[in-house]
Amino acid sequence: MIRAIAFCCLTFACLAQDPIAPHSAFEPPAAKAAASLSASTRDSPPELLTTGEKSNWNETAPYAEAVEISHRLERASRFVKVLHMGLTPEGRTMIALLVSKDRAFTPEAAARTGKAVILIQSGIHAGEIEGKDTVLMLVRDMTVSKRFASWLDHAIFVIVPVFNVDGHENFSPYHRPSQNGPKSTGLRANAQHLNLNRDYIKADTPEMRLWLRLFNSWMPDFHIDNHVTDGSDMQYDVTWDMARNQDLAEPAGAWVRERFVPELDKRMAADGHLVAPYGALRNVNGRREFFMEVFSPRYSHLYSAVQNRPSLLVETHSLKAARTRAWANYDIMRHAIDTILLDPEALRRAVREADREMASRAGNRSAAPVYLAGKVSDKSRPLVYHALKIGPYQSEVTGASVTRYLPDPDDLDTRIHDEIDTTLEAQMPLGYLIPAAWKEAADLLALHGVEMERTTRPIEQEFETYRFSKITFGNSVQEGHLAVNFEAQLVKERITIPVGSYWVPMKQRRARLILSMLEPQAPDSLAHWGLLLNVFEGGGGGGRGGGARGGVGEYLSEPIARRMMADSPELRKQFEEKLASDPQFAADRNARLQWWYQRSKYDPGDTGRYPIVRVWEKSW
Ligand SMILES: [Zn+2]
Repeated sequence: MIRAIAFCCLTFACLAQDPIAPHSAFEPPAAKAAASLSASTRDSPPELLTTGEKSNWNETAPYAEAVEISHRLERASRFVKVLHMGLTPEGRTMIALLVSKDRAFTPEAAARTGKAVILIQSGIHAGEIEGKDTVLMLVRDMTVSKRFASWLDHAIFVIVPVFNVDGHENFSPYHRPSQNGPKSTGLRANAQHLNLNRDYIKADTPEMRLWLRLFNSWMPDFHIDNHVTDGSDMQYDVTWDMARNQDLAEPAGAWVRERFVPELDKRMAADGHLVAPYGALRNVNGRREFFMEVFSPRYSHLYSAVQNRPSLLVETHSLKAARTRAWANYDIMRHAIDTILLDPEALRRAVREADREMASRAGNRSAAPVYLAGKVSDKSRPLVYHALKIGPYQSEVTGASVTRYLPDPDDLDTRIHDEIDTTLEAQMPLGYLIPAAWKEAADLLALHGVEMERTTRPIEQEFETYRFSKITFGNSVQEGHLAVNFEAQLVKERITIPVGSYWVPMKQRRARLILSMLEPQAPDSLAHWGLLLNVFEGGGGGGRGGGARGGVGEYLSEPIARRMMADSPELRKQFEEKLASDPQFAADRNARLQWWYQRSKYDPGDTGRYPIVRVWEKSW
C-alpha cells in the first residue's frame, strides 16, 4: 500500500487525482421532491434505511449492509425469506430475497398459488448501484411500511440485490468516471474480469451458474435488470429496453407492445419522469434520427426473451444526480409492477401461450421459421426526442472544439427506428441429437433447464447438419473466449450417432433457447462462442493425429492421391480445373494433397462438420 503511494507520487499521475463527479446540465424538475422515493424513506424504521437513503445518495455501503438489511426484513416479516444462492469466485455468499404472502418459498409452492412471479436483479454491473438500495426499499414497502402490501395478493417476488458481489466489493472513487456519484463504487466486471451481462448463454462464471439455477427453477413471468447507462447528456432521466418485436414470441410480444409499454410510459410521465427507449441518435443524411439497439441472448433481457419471458432493462442516466437515478429506478420498477398487476393473468396467459406457440413449431416443416438475429430497421415513425443544446468550446488540451451540453432543452422533431429486420432465422426441427462425446454441450443445456434423454442404441440415418467453411478466429479474446466466425452450409448426410447420446426434443418450453444455442450461425451459439473449438481444428481441414486428418505423412498420402488420379479420370479432370482456376491452390502443395485426401476413403468424413444433428423424424 505504502509502496504504491510512493510510486504514484514519483509520477505526474497524482497531480490531478481528485475524482471528478460529472453533472448533467439538466435535472427533471420533479426530481427535486422525488416524492415517491422520499415517502418510502420517511415511512421506514431507522434500522431498515440504506446508506444511500441516509447519505442523500452520496454514498453506497459494502455488500454486508444489503445482506444485513435483508435479514432484518426477514425478521420483521413472515413474508420474507433470504435464500443463499451459493458462493462467488472470491467466496462471498450471493443472496436472493423471496417475498410471498403465502410463504411460497419454493418454485413448486409458488406455482401452486397461481400468482405472477417477478424476478428483479440489481448490480450485475456493480458500479451501477442505486438498484441495490431501491429493491430493498420495495421489499420494505411491501412488508413493513405496507404501502405496496397489496402487490403480494397477486405476485411473488424473487429479488437479487447484488448480482456481481465480488465486483461490488472492489470499491474505488475511480471506477465510474462518467457517473455522478456515489463517492465510491464497485466495478463492472466480476473478480474473473468477466462481464456477467455477456455470460447468459456460455455461463462461464459461478455467479451466472447460480443465477441460471434460480431463473430456471422459478421460471419468472417477468424480469427486471437494473443498470446505469453512460452516454451523451440529455433530458431523459431513465431509458429502457425490452424485446418486443420478432425477438419475443407471440403473444408475449403483443403483451409488451400493446399493454405494458404504453401504460408504463404514461405512468412514468405522470410522475414527472422523462423516459425514452434505450438507444442513440445517429446521423442519417445530415439529420439526427434515433435508433434502438438489437441485442442477443448473451444479455439478460434477451436471455429472458428466448425463454419467452418479458424483461425490462432499466438504464438510469449516469450524469443525473445519484438521488435522481434512485428515484427513477424506484419509480420505473414500481410502475412496471403496478402495470403488470392491473391484470397479472393476462401476462401469465401470454407467456404460457408463447411457450406453447414455440414448442408447437417443432418438427413442423410448414411452420414459420424462428428469428435468431436481426438489425435495426430502416423503417421509422415520428418521435420528439428530448436532447440538450450544445455549446462547444475551444479546448486548450485538445487544441480543438469540445462538446459541452447546455441546460437548454433541444426538443428534436425526428424519427425513431424501433423495429427489427431479421437477418437470420431457422426452422425448428423435431429435435437435436448431441453425440455422447460432446457431453459438455449437453451439460450446458441441462444448466439452462433443457430436458433431454439419453439414447439407448446407435442410430444410423440421414440427418440434417452443417458443413463449415471460411473459418476465421477472433484476433482478440472476448469474455475469455476466442470467438469463431464461419459460414455454415446446411447438408444432409448419413451419420451414425453412438449409444448414450443426448436426444433434445424441441417440443418443450425452452425450444427457442435451444435453437439459439445449437443453430451454429446464431449470434450466441455454442459454435460462435468457441465452445466446440475442436470442430474447427486445423481450420476445418487438419487435426486428429497431426498433419492432414488421419495423420499420415506426405510420403504415404501422395501415393494414395496418385493412385486415385490414375483410377478416376473424372476426379483428375476436376483437379486440373481447380489447378487452372485457382493459382493460390496450385501453388500450395499441402492444399493439393489435401484435395485428394478429402476425397479418399481414408478421410474420416466429419472434418469441418457440425457434430450436432437436426432431427425431423424420430426413427428410434
Ligand atoms: Zn450496466
